[in-house]
Amino acid sequence: MDFTWPASFQASSRLMIFNESVAGWSVALERGVRDFNRLMEASQLKLRYEITTHRSAANVFVRTAGPDKVANPLHGETDYPQKVIGDATPFSTICLRDRPQVLGWIRDPVKKDRQQVWRTPGDAALSVVVAHELLHACGLEAHCDGDVFAEELVAECGYRSADDRLRNKASGMPFPPLFLTPDTKARLRTIWP
Ligand SMILES: [Zn+2]
Repeated sequence: MDFTWPASFQASSRLMIFNESVAGWSVALERGVRDFNRLMEASQLKLRYEITTHRSAANVFVRTAGPDKVANPLHGETDYPQKVIGDATPFSTICLRDRPQVLGWIRDPVKKDRQQVWRTPGDAALSVVVAHELLHACGLEAHCDGDVFAEELVAECGYRSADDRLRNKASGMPFPPLFLTPDTKARLRTIWP
């Protein structure tokens, strides 16, 4: 079930992010937050994220971990806020795979053919992973097949990492740009009125 943050959070329409460790994700985190906020604005939704340098001001913590904790380099593990019980102020924790790798293509200039190599995904693709986890962190639980909140987003690698995209496996839609279905927007409007 989706999680509704306390009324004081709803009144501010704001969640603060503290960046604990971001091996390979610093640019993608900033872009993910910026693109998420633009999407909210374009969708006439009030929620905004802000990155803070003060741990005590944060409600969402972002860190990286190895494959034992985060199996999929393109899908983080977010501890959903509902897990916090009692009187404690809720918070979310986003865990991203440290130094993520994808199987991408390079063109061999000598042989003039293409080869597959493991390499770091581009920041545009990684920013989509961040935006997806920001949707979990603000309270959405069950995935939506039709948009960027789908369970399965697969890498579509370009020859340059800057051209990498994530594709919704069910619908085939590539991101960025981010896209939300009316259903996901309605859920966000319910928990962030
Ligand atoms: Zn997810």
